[in-house]
Amino acid sequence: MAKADVKRKVVIYRDWCKQCGICSTFCPTGCIVKEEDGYPFPRYIEKCIGCRLCELRCPEFAITVEEEAKSK
Ligand code: SF4
Ligand code: SF4
Repeated sequence: MAKADVKRKVVIYRDWCKQCGICSTFCPTGCIVKEEDGYPFPRYIEKCIGCRLCELRCPEFAITVEEEAKSK
């Protein structure tokens, strides 16, 4: 699917998150930032390229990347 046709959402399960900061550190585009309370937040979701590094690196399975086709 072409990049422009995809809408992405990064979902963080706070109950599982240990605030380790791995996801925000490894995100290559700076989409995820670590908030003041220590939890990650996908503040710049428009920058997400869907690489799923955040999901793959999270040791707690606390973050997932969802993609859906943009309605035309
Ligand atoms: S999928 Fe990639 S670009 Fe998107 S938030 Fe995760 S690490 Fe960052
Ligand atoms: S990598 Fe996982 S556990 Fe660590 S801060 Fe990100 S979501 Fe939380």
